[in-house]
Amino acid sequence: MPDKSLYSSILGLSSQWRISNAVLDSKARHLRLEIAASSCAEFCCPVCGGAAVRVGANKGCWQHDDLLNMRFHISAVIPVTLCKTCGTNRISVPWERAGSCFRCME
Ligand SMILES: [Zn+2]
Repeated sequence: MPDKSLYSSILGLSSQWRISNAVLDSKARHLRLEIAASSCAEFCCPVCGGAAVRVGANKGCWQHDDLLNMRFHISAVIPVTLCKTCGTNRISVPWERAGSCFRCME
């Protein structure tokens, strides 16, 4: 069983996120992670940073071809928030931060 806390640290996940499943195929050098926001986590508007409420979620997939000499695949359920000023927007995810080599596949 892969060490979820190690992968949490590598991806910079805060306590708002949890890895629900991790499957390592060491022969193929492939790691598949399933990530979801904690049900009680609160998120700000990703556009203005103001107060927002969670109104739904979208699924997404990301891939990184060479992280720790492995191919990473992330499937995640990403909260969508409603801000009075900006409307509905999907929140930003830590593994998409500037300089990240994760590519969104969907
Ligand atoms: Zn906003």
